[in-house]
Amino acid sequence: MNIESIRRDFPILNQQVNGHKLVYLDNSATSQKPSSVIQTMVNYYEHYNSNVHRGVHTLGTIATDRYEEAREKIRSFINAKSEKEIIYTMGTTQSLNLIAYGYGLARLGEGDEILITPMEHHANLIPWQQVAKKTGAVLRYFPMEEDGTLDLDKVRKAVTDRVKIVSVTEVSNVLGTVNPVKEIAAIAHAHGAIMVVDGAQSTPHMTVDVQDMDADFFAFSGHKMLGPTGIGVLYGKQALLEAMEPIETGGEMIDEVGFQSATWAELPWKLEAGTPHIAGAIGLGAAIDYLQNVGMDTIQNYEEQLTGRAYDLLSEIDGVTLYGPHKRSGLVSFNIDGVHPHDVSTALDSEGIAVRAGHHCAQPLMSCLKCESTVRASFYFYNSEDEIEALAKGIKETKEFFG
Ligand code: PLP
Repeated sequence: MNIESIRRDFPILNQQVNGHKLVYLDNSATSQKPSSVIQTMVNYYEHYNSNVHRGVHTLGTIATDRYEEAREKIRSFINAKSEKEIIYTMGTTQSLNLIAYGYGLARLGEGDEILITPMEHHANLIPWQQVAKKTGAVLRYFPMEEDGTLDLDKVRKAVTDRVKIVSVTEVSNVLGTVNPVKEIAAIAHAHGAIMVVDGAQSTPHMTVDVQDMDADFFAFSGHKMLGPTGIGVLYGKQALLEAMEPIETGGEMIDEVGFQSATWAELPWKLEAGTPHIAGAIGLGAAIDYLQNVGMDTIQNYEEQLTGRAYDLLSEIDGVTLYGPHKRSGLVSFNIDGVHPHDVSTALDSEGIAVRAGHHCAQPLMSCLKCESTVRASFYFYNSEDEIEALAKGIKETKEFFG
């Protein structure tokens, strides 16, 4: 991988922040965008901005074609069977809400169980809390090991025939844990439960194959994988999506409308009410082109190297606590003894290093880690070894400054 040439594709990386070269290590929050994605969106607005699926005029036809071509790219990227299974949403949060309210609400009842993990992002937690309250279902948690992993024997014991929905993140946004979602799906299915996978932190960094993992639903966001904000995907097996009633209704999603009732369009449009984020969808298609050009295996291997280096350098610093397992996806969460994570983040920012401090939308997990917040440095394939060294140096200096 030619890192220098890749970095030239991301104009934002080439700037000074607070008098230092920018070191962007907040990729789990949102990734940067290559020029090809930005230009694809500019091209839409400059040359064929039109609504989709409506007009038969030339611009409308081009916009519709590009919008649907992007759906096909997404289908192939996650290996879904059909583009009917790819629903455009605003992002992972909306996708997970659609599953909870559009699928769960109508099917859960008193005493049914929803099983999730203690490491879920609030987006894969609060919708289930709400649906449990409304239906009388019980929200339960898989036990988590000290190092932030799941033990499959314990997972097996936790799933009973009362469990109707298992919903697990493929990669933790705080610990970097990579969960064995394929094995968990098989366990869920053996008990007649459906398997939901939060793919927000896995899809940008590794090959995703929804058929191989046998997920019933899979959710992810465009902005964490080089695409724009405001666009994401809900994948669902066709039969499940067919059976779902739309929770949003209006234009674009109908077949026939009378004064008192209406019938729905076919999938995927049945679940896409209103004018969609057209430029966003086309931009996400361009992001997938870029990722595929580099290669998902290349990206994963390179990030493994970077993350391993960061883990080793940070574990050598006295007074730094690292959270999560040794084998992990591309991020490190840590604390420095006696220094508040916000102070660490502010000190690093003064050196041009962008990291995130806080609970990372995972408050229950923070209580398992016995802290209120952590500092998180998260990597992408355009980060360099030098930037990892700069992070370690910045942490040492911060420790000395506050020590
Ligand atoms: N799930 C995980 C694991 C995440 O890390 C995030 C965002 O950080 C989300 C869900 C929510 O994604 P979005 O804010 O793009 O909807």
